[in-house]
Amino acid sequence: MAEADFDVAVIGGGPSGATAANDLALRGLKVLLLDRDGRIKPCGGAIPPRALKDFEIPESLLVAKARAARMISPAGRKVDMPVGDGPDGKGFVGMVDRDVFDEWLRARAALNGAERVTGTYERIDRDADGMAVLVYRSDRGGPDRRVRVRSVIGADGARSAVAKQNIKGAEQVKCVFAYHEIIKTPDAAVAHATDFDQDRCDVYYQGKLSPDFYAWVFPHGDTASIGLGSANKGFPLRETTALMREQIGLAGCETIRKEGAPIPLKPLKRWDNGRDLVVAGDAAGVVAPASGEGIYYAMACGRLAGDAVFQFLVTGKASALKQARKQFMAKHGKVFWILGMMQYFWYSSDKRRERFVKMCADPDVQYLTWQSYMHKELVRRKPVAHAKIFVKDMGHLLGLSRA
Ligand SMILES: Cc1cc2nc3c(=O)[nH]c(=O)nc-3n(C[C@H](O)[C@H](O)[C@H](O)COP(=O)(O)OP(=O)(O)OC[C@H]3O[C@@H](n4cnc5c(N)ncnc54)[C@H](O)[C@@H]3O)c2cc1C
Repeated sequence: MAEADFDVAVIGGGPSGATAANDLALRGLKVLLLDRDGRIKPCGGAIPPRALKDFEIPESLLVAKARAARMISPAGRKVDMPVGDGPDGKGFVGMVDRDVFDEWLRARAALNGAERVTGTYERIDRDADGMAVLVYRSDRGGPDRRVRVRSVIGADGARSAVAKQNIKGAEQVKCVFAYHEIIKTPDAAVAHATDFDQDRCDVYYQGKLSPDFYAWVFPHGDTASIGLGSANKGFPLRETTALMREQIGLAGCETIRKEGAPIPLKPLKRWDNGRDLVVAGDAAGVVAPASGEGIYYAMACGRLAGDAVFQFLVTGKASALKQARKQFMAKHGKVFWILGMMQYFWYSSDKRRERFVKMCADPDVQYLTWQSYMHKELVRRKPVAHAKIFVKDMGHLLGLSRA
């Protein structure tokens, strides 16, 4: 039997694929990291401090640290939520620029031994002995390249070609379509006039800006991201972003880029092909409902996919691949479920959005929100706060509360 060229081919060098490739290279495997050239992932770039800790990311990659989120209701009510605790007593939401951030992650994987290749995934073929053959188009041109690999991690993002071709049901994944414009940060006079704050993320819960998700202004140091999302296919994302920029007084700021991409709404039911392939990150559908947070979860998922593939290669048991999904859902499934319910209920009408923003003024709501965002765990320390919020939520759900 011919030898394999690589132990693992990781397809996609975003946060998920780059994390998996780095982990597996560090474990001594022969790793190929395939990524397309030249596209910056459209993204608000907000990450929790936990991502820095778990994945050893230097703070120097942060272009801004937001110290608060401002929630804005349909009627224009503003509720500020200062970020809770942190190691220095002051938490933050970290902001990264994806061109720099993703490249740093890929370069780290290469430094630790992964072989980087620039090209476009085409398909997986099978050799006569059953081994997977990764077929890709090199960006340098020429005929398709063929590489024999013992295993594959598909981390090629939302609407993943790897998932669609190799995992049943993957082509049906539902998405929110998100669009944003990168603008130059307003100068001091405009910032003052528009109440733009370099240290704050603004989140708009207004049906006219998004009928089923939200709109945002995120600070990024010299630039800012203004965008919105909706799963409603006919919703005019570009026109509404222009409208929003008019509404908040940022229409005159220089626009650097305009771009959009789908965000998957639900983890796939199956992540592996039962043989030698597993998907991770957006390709597996792991973006948190309600918030659209995907970077941390893509990295966490990439790590678990890497663990699962490692176990598969060590034991030869394809059942080991299932552990990626099993462990991810055991860790984050409950939070995803709660956020899914939240999105379903609170984002469904302006009346509910108004109540939702009002509820965000509650210190217990703020505490629990930031704790779960920062630490990626449900807080157990404040059972009374949980009970209070549960009663409030139920009151709203049953229409008993007027607050
Ligand atoms: C507008 C917008 C705003 C967002 N804001 C935030 C935010 O503020 N915070 C947050 O946490 N999340 C945010 N997200 C979600 C987040 O961007 C994703 O969840 C995250 O990037 C997923 O990482 P990934 O590695 O799985 O996929 P990706 O980051 O999409 O990486 C996939 C990689 O695969 C490569 N690739 C794709 N196809 C091929 C192919 N055929 N051959 C070779 N390579 C291929 C791509 O070039 C890319 O490098 C946002 C998403 C959008 C669209």
